[in-house]
Amino acid sequence: MDNLFFTEEHEMLRDMVRDFAAQEVAPLSRELDRSGRFPRELVTAMGELGLMGIPVPEQYGGAGMDTVAYATAVLELAKVDASVAITLAAHTSLGTMPLVLAGTEAQKERWVPQLASGSILGAFGLTEPNAGSDAGATQTTAVKEGDHYRVNGGKIFITNSGEAGVLSFTAQIVDQGEKRGIGAFVIPTDTPGLTIGPKEKKMGWRASDTRQLFFQDMLVPEEALMGSPATGFKTFLQTLTGGRISVAALAVGTAEGAYEKALRYSTERQAFGRPISKFQAVSFKLADMATRIEAAKLLVYHAAWLKDQGQDVIKEAAMAKLFASEVAMDTTIEAIQIHGGYGYVKDYDVERYFRDAKVLEIGEGTSEVQRIIIAREILKSVLT
Ligand SMILES: Cc1cc2nc3c(=O)[nH]c(=O)nc-3n(C[C@H](O)[C@H](O)[C@H](O)COP(=O)(O)OP(=O)(O)OC[C@H]3O[C@@H](n4cnc5c(N)ncnc54)[C@H](O)[C@@H]3O)c2cc1C
Repeated sequence: MDNLFFTEEHEMLRDMVRDFAAQEVAPLSRELDRSGRFPRELVTAMGELGLMGIPVPEQYGGAGMDTVAYATAVLELAKVDASVAITLAAHTSLGTMPLVLAGTEAQKERWVPQLASGSILGAFGLTEPNAGSDAGATQTTAVKEGDHYRVNGGKIFITNSGEAGVLSFTAQIVDQGEKRGIGAFVIPTDTPGLTIGPKEKKMGWRASDTRQLFFQDMLVPEEALMGSPATGFKTFLQTLTGGRISVAALAVGTAEGAYEKALRYSTERQAFGRPISKFQAVSFKLADMATRIEAAKLLVYHAAWLKDQGQDVIKEAAMAKLFASEVAMDTTIEAIQIHGGYGYVKDYDVERYFRDAKVLEIGEGTSEVQRIIIAREILKSVLT
C-alpha cells in the first residue's frame, strides 16, 4: 500500500487509468495540444472503461466509487495530459454532480445514466462576463411565464460546452416582476435560443473545449429547474467545493508529470562531465519539487477522504486547490529550468505542462478566492 487513503480497489483503478493514459493518451498529447482538437475518441474510450461516472451512484449507471477514487483517476490522466483530465473532471464534477446532488428524480433518470456512461458530455455554466469570482452577480434572467421560463443572458468560459449534450446553468429567477434568487436549470444543448460560440484559443488546456454561450429568448420548461428557485446558487457552490478537489488532483498530476520528466532528464543530461543531477543546485530543486508534490497529494486525498466520510470540506477543498495549483505552477517552471533550452521547445513537453498549469490558479475559484474562503473558515471557527 503506497497511499494511506487507498484500498485495493483504488490501486486497481489507478493502475488501469495509468495504463490507459500511457497507451492511449500519451501518443496523442502533442498533436492535441498543437491542433487544439477535442479528443472525442478518448472520451468514448473513457466511457467504455467506466471512467465517465466514477463517483456517480450505481443506481444511475455510475461506478458508485468514492471521491478518493475519482481524484486518483483525474491525477493519473493529468500526469499525461491535462486537457483530457479536465474534460473528464468538468464533465463529472460540474456537468453531472449538480444533477446527482439536486436534480429531481425525473431529471436524474433522464440525464445521469447517459452522462455516467459517457454517451453524452456535461457542461456547467456559472461564469458570466460580469460575474466571475463574484458569481452571485449573475445577470442572466429566467422570467417565469406560465409553465416555463424565458431565459436571456449568457455565460463565458464554459468547459465542454461545444461537445456537451446537457448543460446546467444559473439564472436570476424573476416571477411576477420580483427577483426570487438564483436558480439552477438543466437543459439539452439543442434547446432553441441557446447559441454556442466558437472554441476559445487558450494558452493551455488547448484540447479542452471552452466556449461562450448566449441565451436569447430561450424557453425552458419549469421541470428543468433543479430544486427550488432559491436553492440553485447553493447547489452550484456545493458543486464547486467538490470540483475543487478534482482540480487540486489535476494540479498534482500536472506537477508530478513535469517532475518525472525533469527527474529523468537530470540523470541523462551531461554537463561538465557528469549528469546534471549530480549538481546540488539541480538535485535540491528536485528535492523541493518531490516534497511539495507529496504535501499537495496528501491535502488532496485528505480532502477527498473527509468528503467521503460525509464531512464538510469547504476549507480542506480550498486549501488543497490553492496549494496544489501553486505547486503545479512552481514545479512546471522548475521542470523547464532543469531542461535548460530544451525545456523551452516543444519536443520535451515540459513547456506544455507549464502552460497547462497556469489556469489551475484561475478556474473553479482563483487563488485569491481560495484564500478568502480559507480565511473565512478559520476565522469563523475562532469567532464562534
Ligand atoms: C479554461 C477555463 C475554463 C473554465 N471553465 C468554466 C466552466 O466550465 N464553468 C464556469 O462557470 N466557469 C468556468 N471558467 C471560469 C472561471 O471559473 C473564472 O474565470 C474564474 O472564476 C475567475 O473569474 P473571472 O475570470 O471573471 O475573473 P475576476 O473575477 O474578474 O477576477 C480577476 C482578478 O481579480 C481577483 N479578484 C476578484 N475578486 C476579488 C476579491 N474579492 N478579492 C481579491 N481578489 C479578487 C481575482 O482573484 C483575479 O485575480 C473557466 C475559466 C477558464 C479560464
